[in-house]
Formats: sequence, C-alpha cells, structure tokens
Amino acid sequence: MAPIETKTYDYIVIGGGSGGSGSARRASGWYGAKTLIVESGRSGGTCVNVGCVPKKMTWHFASLNEELHAARHYGYDVPENIKFDYGSFKRFRDSRIKQLNGVYENNWGKEGIDLVHGRARFVEPKVIEVTAADSTETKIRYTAKHILIAVGGHPIVPGVQGAEHGITSDGFFEIEELPKKWAVVGAGYIAVELAGVLAAVGVETHMFIRGDTFLRKFDPMIQETMTARYEAVGIKVHKQHKGFKEVQLLKDGKGADKVLKLIGVEGDEIEVNELLWAVGRAPEVEDLHLEIPGVKQSRSGHVIVDEFQNTSVEGIYALGDVTGQAELTPVAIAAGRQLGNRLFGTPELKYARLSYENIPTVVFSHPEVGTIGLTEPQARQRFGDDKIKVYTTRFTAMFYDPFPTEEKKLNPTQMKIICAGPEEKVVGLHILGLGVGEMLQGFGVAIKMGATKKDFDSCVAIHPTSSEELVTMR
Ligand SMILES: Cc1cc2nc3c(=O)[nH]c(=O)nc-3n(C[C@H](O)[C@H](O)[C@H](O)COP(=O)(O)OP(=O)(O)OC[C@H]3O[C@@H](n4cnc5c(N)ncnc54)[C@H](O)[C@@H]3O)c2cc1C
Repeated sequence: MAPIETKTYDYIVIGGGSGGSGSARRASGWYGAKTLIVESGRSGGTCVNVGCVPKKMTWHFASLNEELHAARHYGYDVPENIKFDYGSFKRFRDSRIKQLNGVYENNWGKEGIDLVHGRARFVEPKVIEVTAADSTETKIRYTAKHILIAVGGHPIVPGVQGAEHGITSDGFFEIEELPKKWAVVGAGYIAVELAGVLAAVGVETHMFIRGDTFLRKFDPMIQETMTARYEAVGIKVHKQHKGFKEVQLLKDGKGADKVLKLIGVEGDEIEVNELLWAVGRAPEVEDLHLEIPGVKQSRSGHVIVDEFQNTSVEGIYALGDVTGQAELTPVAIAAGRQLGNRLFGTPELKYARLSYENIPTVVFSHPEVGTIGLTEPQARQRFGDDKIKVYTTRFTAMFYDPFPTEEKKLNPTQMKIICAGPEEKVVGLHILGLGVGEMLQGFGVAIKMGATKKDFDSCVAIHPTSSEELVTMR
C-alpha cells in the first residue's frame, strides 16, 4: 500500500459549522493563515441545516396561522379552515438551506480556505486522517501547528425499546406531511419550540416532561407562565412523567398514516402519528479518537477547555457545542473569531477570548421568550436576598385589544428585571410576549455595558410599545 500523503497547514478546523466557519474565516480571511476546513456533512453545520435556520423559518410558518386567526378579531373576513401546504413550505425551506450551504462554501473559497469533505479522525497526536466523503473514500492526512475541534453535537435517542421509530430534531426537518397527533418527549428549548410550531398549526400535541414545568433552566416566571400558556392553548402537558419503556410501530407511513404506540414505564399508553425525542444533545466525538492526542473530556464526553478554548493538549483547541458551553450559534462563532484573533492576530490580541457572561438568548416558542443574565434564584444565591431587588410586570399587549377577554388571557406579556446591590445593577432580564426576540438584543447591549435600573429609567420610553414597560417599571 502506498504511504498516505500528509499535507501541512497553519490551521486545521475540524467541522464547518458555526464555530469552525467563524474561526477559519477569521484566521484565513483576516490574518492570511493557511487554513483547512474538514466537514463530514453539509456545510454550515447544525444551525444552517437542522437548527436555527429551518427552525425559525418553521416558526414563521406557524406564527402566520396565529396571525390569520388574529386578523378575524380585527374584522378581516378570514375563513375558519384555511388550507396550507406544508410540503411546499418544506421544499422552499430545503432550497433556501441548499443556497446557504453554497454561501458558506463561497465565503470560504473567497477567503482562501481549503475545504475537504470527509470525516476526520486523529491518527497521531497532531495528525488527522480524512476519509473522503465521495465514492473514492481516499484517505489523506493533514497536520498543522494549530488544530481546532469544532465538531458540534447530535441529538440523543434514549435506550428505549423501539426508540428508533421516533424522530429527533434532525428528523423533524425531514417531515413532509404533518402528523395529526404527536408526542414530544423533553422539556428543553428544542422540545418547547418544536411542540409550539406544530401546535400552532393545529396538530394535537402531547408533551411529556419529568417535572411540573418545562424550560427548567430558565427563570421560574418563564417556566410557570409558558407551561400554563401552552396548556391553555390546548397542548396536553403530561407532567411528572416517568418515561417510556417501549415504542411500537403499529403502521408505517407518512403524516397521519404513521401510527406509533408509546408504552410508559407506569403502564400508560398513547397512540400518536409521530414521536419526537428532544431529550438533549451529545458531543460528536465518538470516532475522533481524542485519546490519540490525549484530549481530556468530561464525563458527558464534552471536550474540556479553559477560558481561551485550549484543550489539555497544546496546539489543540475546541469550541462550540462540543465543549457544552452555552450551546448557541453566536457563541460558537464569537468564540471561533476570538480564537482566530488570539492565534493569528496582532500581539495585542494574544489574550483575546470570549466572555461567556451575559449571553442573551431567545426561545422561539409561542409567544417568544427572551432571557439574559441570572435567574432570580441564581441572583439570590450569588448576592443574597437582601441585596436583590426584583421588578415585574404582567399585561396584555395592545395587539390583543380586539380579542375577546377569554382569549386575551391566553396571551400574556411578562417581564422581570433583577437588580443587585445599592446601585441596582441589572443582573438578569427575563421577558416573554410578542416581539421579545427582537427586543432583547438592544437591552443585551445595555446589560453587557453594566446598566443599572436608573440607566433603564433614564431612557425615554417609546410609545406605544411593549418594550416601554422595561424603562418605566416601578
Ligand atoms: C433544533 C435546533 C434549533 C436551534 N436553534 C438555535 C437558535 O435559534 N439559536 C441559536 O443560537 N442556536 C440554536 N441552536 C444551536 C446551534 O445550532 C448550535 O449551538 C451551533 O450550531 C453549534 O455550532 P458548532 O460549530 O459548535 O457545531 P455545528 O454547527 O454542529 O457544526 C459541527 C460540524 O462538524 C461536522 N463534523 C462532526 N464531526 C466531524 C468529523 N469527525 N470530521 C469532520 N466534520 C465533522 C458536522 O457535520 C457539523 O457540520 C439550535 C440547535 C438545534 C438542534
């Protein structure tokens, strides 16, 4: 067998997702480092292909149904049963994603980054081998002084008998025909978002959660209001659920033609057309052979890094979902750019790193949720009860004025500002309601700059909006 050729780069990036792309572009595009991206799947990673982008498009698709319903209250003659073609929306969504895959690859090309499609694994401490994704399955080895692991993660399928008959969030984006009735297992933001979109277009939705509320990592106000809101609009939330022991495929097919029977550990049974496992994500490290360089991992398999994204091995770095740190696209991109700055930038950037404090995030539920900083229990624990002041408000946004009273109750807007110390520095902000996703970004800047409640109050309100409440709370 001919010896396998080894090519040398300044920077090898394993994974062309959010973090890998952000880092490679900074290293090559800004600083001219000879950079290679190795990507085993579709360019752009989770966010573009099976995450943020198709999710948000589907959220728009679903939100339109809610708006059409609202239009009736404003006097529009909207028929009761508006037909929609999910298949055609899905085809549009797929084509848009394909376009984005091309945009990613074009940008890499323009910035002088080499791309190889294939799966990477370590074969020596600083050498990776890539098996080409095409039919040749050619193996090429690459080495570099700096290697970044940005391989992301994948959804977990629990070890339940017949679990493979259900889908994960990846499979959700392959659905061509909507189920009539479906089950969502999980209480995190992905479960809440995907349950929300299908419920909003009339799919009978059953959520199975272990506790009494979902979004358990969020402020209690968010957990309680959102769980109650989902229940109020007809989502059946099965609380304190002990899990399933078996999934039976009663009938194979698409949409309403697929029938599954779920059998709970306590003997409870339910028949549905689809089952979504949204029980968490695991790092995509199984076949990387991290033991060869000796990169240390946590018990969950995540790559352990310090504040500069260094792993336990010199010259090998990790960021994004594979590290389990704030698993969000902009976090991975920002960490990647800072690493690029630190490794290849000017000397004053040699301590460049991402601050993981005060990262704003939005849940695209119905309605949206926005959050930044500490939850109330976290703030109380960190500063002490007597050092915390909490401002809250709950109201119905003007948009719902023409709605009947009963329906108005289903659409709360709620806000909480958590302040610490005598200067009332804002250490947490939690909001839910119409448009809060767009609202949060600007407040995020203020909080990142260290805003106090007085700073919030000193900003003249924009009237009439919901966000004006954030600068007028007493
Ligand atoms: C349903 C869903 C919705 C989401 N919504 C949002 C949202 O609204 N906002 C938000 O900020 N975040 C969202 N996220 C999270 C976001 O997608 C991730 O945090 C982000 O993509 C992580 O980027 P990354 O670079 O770490 O990994 P990824 O983007 O996953 O990229 C990793 C890449 O590495 C490749 N790879 C893996 N192993 C190898 C290997 N051995 N060799 C070569 N290539 C390899 C993979 O194919 C992949 O392309 C969502 C995620 C999901 C699942």
